[in-house]
Amino acid sequence: MQARELRVVVLGAGMAGILAGIRLQQAGYGNIAIYEKADRVGGTWRENTYPGLTCDVPSHHYTYSFERNPDWTRHLPPGPEVLAYFERTAEKFGLDQLIRFGEEATSAEFVDGRWELEFSTGRRDSADVVIAATGVLHHPRYPDIEGAGEFSGKLFHSARWDHSVPLEGKRIGVIGNGSTGVQIVSALAGKAGHLVHFQRTAQWIMPVENGEFTREERAAFHDPEVLAAAMNVEEYNAAVERYTEAIIDMDSPGAREMGAYCLANLEQGVTDPELREQLRPDHAPLCKRLVFSPDYYQAIQHPNAQLVTQGIARIEPGGIRTDDGELHELDVIVYATGFRPDRFMRPMRITGPDGVDLESFWAERPKAYLAVSMPGFPNLFMLNGPNGPVGNFSLIDIAEHQWVYIEQLLARLRDGHCEQLAPTREAMDAFETERVAAAKQTVWFRGGCVSWYLDDQGVPSSWPWNYSRFVKEMSQPDWAAFGVDAPGP
Ligand code: NAP
Repeated sequence: MQARELRVVVLGAGMAGILAGIRLQQAGYGNIAIYEKADRVGGTWRENTYPGLTCDVPSHHYTYSFERNPDWTRHLPPGPEVLAYFERTAEKFGLDQLIRFGEEATSAEFVDGRWELEFSTGRRDSADVVIAATGVLHHPRYPDIEGAGEFSGKLFHSARWDHSVPLEGKRIGVIGNGSTGVQIVSALAGKAGHLVHFQRTAQWIMPVENGEFTREERAAFHDPEVLAAAMNVEEYNAAVERYTEAIIDMDSPGAREMGAYCLANLEQGVTDPELREQLRPDHAPLCKRLVFSPDYYQAIQHPNAQLVTQGIARIEPGGIRTDDGELHELDVIVYATGFRPDRFMRPMRITGPDGVDLESFWAERPKAYLAVSMPGFPNLFMLNGPNGPVGNFSLIDIAEHQWVYIEQLLARLRDGHCEQLAPTREAMDAFETERVAAAKQTVWFRGGCVSWYLDDQGVPSSWPWNYSRFVKEMSQPDWAAFGVDAPGP
């Protein structure tokens, strides 16, 4: 057994790639490169710049555990502050030296024990290990609406916001009422001349506080003890546990409690009975990812705002015509229509040693053993890969737990115990069978709605168990699943 230096390539410099870079350096890996297709770090927080952009995870919990941020201005972190936090953190930990910007990986092929990578610029690199930190929700989903090309105003997706377009006093239509559409409408009510929110399916809206922290509070948070007390990580994790329990058991007390909050919010927050009925969801709470909002109901009742529940028939030069024949005249249309959740590293081509490529391996649906690794693709590990937990909690925390697991895999490769690590096909198949069966018990499947949690076959793609199971699974690899002996004591 001979220790070896590993060349580790990280793909992506968003939240997860920055985490990988920091942790690799801290663990003494000296031969690292991080490739980022854009010209800045930040991932989703770089790409999304829409008005009202906010993270709906409480501010102090939306940080790396080792780099808290006492300076958040609000209870929920505003998007630009989140981006600044990631930029600051990447710089503080010296990642600027490691990140190569403007380099999109186009292919990776495992040849003679190494990953041979190619980039859109023509650059090539070779690595012992590849960490894919390429994000989950980043390929915009464009709806197929007839006539979209004929619109005479401005039309863009929420994740491709055109800041050259003036909004003040304009007639703006927002299609979609997920977390994004709700945040945009809340920000634009009162600013637009007329704001039309096109809703296909009503959403459950969880009320949430989003006040500003006072100057005194922010000063006090610089004392780590004060910040830790304010955060109360244990209580927060218990809330995440209850949330995941509610997902897997839609009849659980937690699920009923969350549903009751949302229902009370609707009953008390919307005065006009007709509007209230239009906003009343027809599916179980949590079936779609809960929308947290302090002010959406207020915004949609603003005199300049209008909720439209008629289906969209087509887009015309002058605006959107709905199924009832009415033309909603508009200057700007925003597609807040979400993302393609099945992309991950794609369109990158990835080919394992036995010639199997990722497209074939994911032909039925994206899958990965414990969301981290795949049989036939040795030494390729994913942060926030398919089937990991994604919900109303911090993905930073999820990635940190995944890193605990990945770091143990890396250590085995570095200490020379093995040259390649990939789960066995048996481990993958057993995991996938159990996962799909569990997924069909969740509220995502049973709750009577369609959402981006469902894959093309209608099976929920996200982690179908509770948070503590995830933390436990990530605490230590089951080495037998990788076909290797457990490390000695
Ligand atoms: P989304 O939740 O997928 O919502 C897409 C919306 O577009 C839905 O309301 C959908 O209606 C509607 N839609 C899609 N195609 C349509 C069509 N052809 N005609 C009419 N309506 C159509 O997308 P999102 O709001 O961008 O959110 C995606 C995810 O991003 C969130 O769930 C969350 O994970 C993340 N996110 C997080 C935050 C945060 O604060 N942490 C903020 C924003 C986004 P139906 O419901 O009828 O399908």
